Amino acid sequence: MIRPVFIISAPSGSGKSTLVGRLMAEIKDLTFSVSYTTRKPRGQEKEGEAYHFIDRADFEHRLSDSEFLEHAEVFGNYYGTHVSALAKAQAEGKDLVLDIDVQGAAQLKERIPDAVSIFVLAPSREMLEQRLRMRSQDSEEVIQRRLHDAIAEIQNYDAYDYVIVNDDLEEAAETLKSIVRAERVKRFRVESKIRPILETFGESKA
Ligand code: ADP
Ligand code: 5GP
Repeated sequence: MIRPVFIISAPSGSGKSTLVGRLMAEIKDLTFSVSYTTRKPRGQEKEGEAYHFIDRADFEHRLSDSEFLEHAEVFGNYYGTHVSALAKAQAEGKDLVLDIDVQGAAQLKERIPDAVSIFVLAPSREMLEQRLRMRSQDSEEVIQRRLHDAIAEIQNYDAYDYVIVNDDLEEAAETLKSIVRAERVKRFRVESKIRPILETFGESKA
């Protein structure tokens, strides 16, 4: 079976982390890609859970050693997906889930054309602002910058295979799970499982 790779992007505050958390908890055989970043840990973030936290020199060294499948600079910090994330998921027979920005998503689609890309959108600018405030994690300055950056990021929605408007959380979470379930049974991915079944019917496709 050819296992899918799921890329999920969204402007900050759209509810991507909430939706990815639900997905990981409720669907089996998924593995989350823990990125490398030069940003400092926030709140309760622990090394190796949401991210591997490294300094700029270390990141640049790894970059020159081609250790990243994709990378980008976001809000003044480097973020990158390590090549081992994909290899590990494949070895474990799991689907890889990546929470990456629009620049990284474009790079990954080039390298893995079958990757499934999903864009999460808040229902309006007003709702996005409300959610950023509700999360009460950022200063007013950071909230304003995130809102400003959202305008540019949203323009890229048309490069994605799916767009989920995260209005009702339950519905959005169900939609995300449905995408994963449906992508898993795309014919080209399950071909190797189908052939032995056909053989039990005495048919074999040359
Ligand atoms: P992101 O990871 O995209 O930055 P979060 O998952 O942190 O966003 O969500 C931002 C805030 O919005 C959080 O406080 C979260 O609980 C809330 N939230 C997420 N989805 C919804 C929704 N559908 N309705 C209302 N609030 C939501
Ligand atoms: P945050 O610092 O809020 O966790 O993430 C900021 C942005 O960086 C988000 O849009 C997130 O999706 C993106 N991001 C996280 N990891 C990676 C990565 O490995 N590569 C890229 N390109 N973006 C990432």
